[in-house]
Amino acid sequence: MNQETPKRSEHKNSCVNCGSELKYKPGSSVIKCGYCNHEETITASETAFEELELQPYLEKMGAQSHTEKISMLHCKTCGANQHVEDNYKSLHCVYCSQPLIVEDAYNEDWILPGAILPFQFDHKQSHAIFKKWVTALWFAPNKLKRAALDPEKTKGLYVPYWTFDAQLNGEYEGQRGDYYYVTESYNTTVNGKTVTRTRQVQKTRWTYASGTISGFVDDTLISASEKKRNAIPKKITNWNLEQLESFSSSYLAGFVTEKYTLSLENGHLKSTEKAKQIASGWAKQDIGGDTQRISQLNMALSEETFKHILLPVYISSYIFNSKKYHFYVNGQSGIIEGNRPYSFWKIFFLVLFILIVISAIIIFANKQ
Ligand SMILES: [Zn+2]
Ligand SMILES: [Zn+2]
Repeated sequence: MNQETPKRSEHKNSCVNCGSELKYKPGSSVIKCGYCNHEETITASETAFEELELQPYLEKMGAQSHTEKISMLHCKTCGANQHVEDNYKSLHCVYCSQPLIVEDAYNEDWILPGAILPFQFDHKQSHAIFKKWVTALWFAPNKLKRAALDPEKTKGLYVPYWTFDAQLNGEYEGQRGDYYYVTESYNTTVNGKTVTRTRQVQKTRWTYASGTISGFVDDTLISASEKKRNAIPKKITNWNLEQLESFSSSYLAGFVTEKYTLSLENGHLKSTEKAKQIASGWAKQDIGGDTQRISQLNMALSEETFKHILLPVYISSYIFNSKKYHFYVNGQSGIIEGNRPYSFWKIFFLVLFILIVISAIIIFANKQ
């Protein structure tokens, strides 16, 4: 017998009765001792593909990236975790303005960002962007444009994202559809008489298709911020990632940094879903023809790497007619989106005008 200290997996697969090696019994879900016939059912964690493949891999990735302790404040209202570099006396949640208690801060492990997109302009410029946006809004009350709106509590926030890179290889089976046209005759009534006419009808000829796909999936971006409310609008979430810089905590000074609430594991699952969509697109392209069906697609990702990155957003709010509105500015491109008031009367008169025009057209058409 081998007297060396067994490896973890060997140790786990040794017989409780005699210490001999347990081996998988083909065609069953048990491991069996070849000496005393003791059997053990394989537990779900040993059969689950993801547990065996994904976990060790993610652990490896986690170990390669550096973790550090960071002091976090958790907002009970919206669920955001945030770290503030400045020594503010009073703190408010960057998303929902709820007061945060400095004494509640706790230290937490944080996978250090691999890269950061530093803010490209200051918060004063974000206000200038806001003013321009407000005056250009359609169907906004005239009072809004005249009001000297003062955005309050503007904060620059670094929003957490995961990005994943991977080599994708796959095999597919499906069908290629090519359109062809047949001439069909049909009967129709013209001025009370039945006449026969012809028309072109599109048909699809399906042929079997199979093949392999291969390529590199680069920078799949997954938002790592999961909150109960106040999500950043999609419209402003396009960043040019070519401007990413190597991470330095100096970039965070004076800004708020949000800690990921979506775990690396779940981020990886989401990116795998995206990779499946990409694979399906590649398979369709490979099949060719006018239309495609995919009956089977086996995809494997390898050489997977990930990054935790931070991307810049200004978050602010303004008050109009004693109601609060939030707005968000992309800290790189300056693209802005937010909540806004609508003028009831402007919309009312536009709808009225459209109805009058439609009525006029109908009356005119009937007189002809
Ligand atoms: Zn045994
Ligand atoms: Zn909050």
